[in-house]
Amino acid sequence: MEYNVTLIRGDGTGPELVEATRRVLEAAAATNGSSFKWDVVEAGVDIMETAGTPLPENVLESVRKNKVALKGPITTPIGTGFRSVNVALRKELDLYACIRPCKSYVGVRSKYEKIDLVIVRENTEDLYAGVEYDLGTPEAKQIIAMAGGKIRDDAAISIKPISVTGTRRIVKAAFDYAVENGRKKVTAVCKANIMKYTDGLFYRVAREVAEEYKSHGIEYDEWLVDAMCMQLVQKPENYDILVMPNLYGDILSDLCAGLVGGLGVAPGANIGDDCALFEATHGSAPKYKGQNKVNPTALILSGLLMLKYLKEDSAAAKLEKAVSDVIAEGKSVTYDMKPDRNDPTAVGTAEMADAIIAKL
Ligand code: NAD
Repeated sequence: MEYNVTLIRGDGTGPELVEATRRVLEAAAATNGSSFKWDVVEAGVDIMETAGTPLPENVLESVRKNKVALKGPITTPIGTGFRSVNVALRKELDLYACIRPCKSYVGVRSKYEKIDLVIVRENTEDLYAGVEYDLGTPEAKQIIAMAGGKIRDDAAISIKPISVTGTRRIVKAAFDYAVENGRKKVTAVCKANIMKYTDGLFYRVAREVAEEYKSHGIEYDEWLVDAMCMQLVQKPENYDILVMPNLYGDILSDLCAGLVGGLGVAPGANIGDDCALFEATHGSAPKYKGQNKVNPTALILSGLLMLKYLKEDSAAAKLEKAVSDVIAEGKSVTYDMKPDRNDPTAVGTAEMADAIIAKL
């Protein structure tokens, strides 16, 4: 089978990671007689200079047409410049479910072993929704007046929307993932003791959805986000699938990536009812741009999630074995996977991809 897939190269280290991943995915798909027709498009700071926007319309058009995309990381300047292209893509395409498996592979250096967690992060609401009012704007002043003394006059304001619709579909996505992948437990993570209305709504709807899935025998429980952080550091083996609103999901994704060896090995999928976009949890690591240095594993494992999404299960299984074998051997791996970061035997991004292709 030939698949039409949009390839968003990204910026910083994105293009080199995307190229390594493209080659690996072609080799994996070929083991099953399948192939890809890539529609290569540009988004991010580099294209901004010529196109005048970091997210040209042809990028969205291509993903809407192909329904599946693989994406390199894209830089978001802090506090200035354009709003996050990553967030805009998720919102524009309504990719509401961010699925981030965090799994230990033998050979990856970590204080923990045998971790197998999945973060399911809501992708379109919460403090990420971009409903913000700057200091001194009429809107900020209006909200401050409305709050009746609870907000200082010199505050900027971010709004946290959590809807029944948004919560219902993300919690359903978590339970569907549990059913499809034979998982045992879904934990909803919030701060409902403090945010009684928004996070309270999240728990209430999550409980309703859990009730609907009762016949599947999946356990459901709830943790406050601060306590969950401690639980994950002390007893990660007690948890399975964690579902939560956007901001907590952003933070716990990096925590869980840390449990399994860091951002270099943490993959992700952004899934909607219509399209899906696969990208690593990590960012553009711009200081390593063009050095053929950073670890392609996270993006390759995101590609593995894409193969599963395309129902290329046998190619996905072969790819997972090839990646885990290369990591376990510890020879053809990037600097971050060596015991000493200055190890001269570390290979580059492209060479690690070559080693995985050789295994395939
Ligand atoms: P980052 O993930 O880019 O890098 C932080 C550090 O993690 C790097 O300096 C590096 O030491 C390590 N690292 C990251 N990826 C690695 C890899 N593949 N191999 C080895 N080491 C790796 O985080 P940041 O510096 O906070 O963000 C840089 C830019 O990326 C920012 O503009 C941020 O907004 C953006 N970002 C984009 C995405 C995305 O595209 N989805 C996600 C997160 C951050």
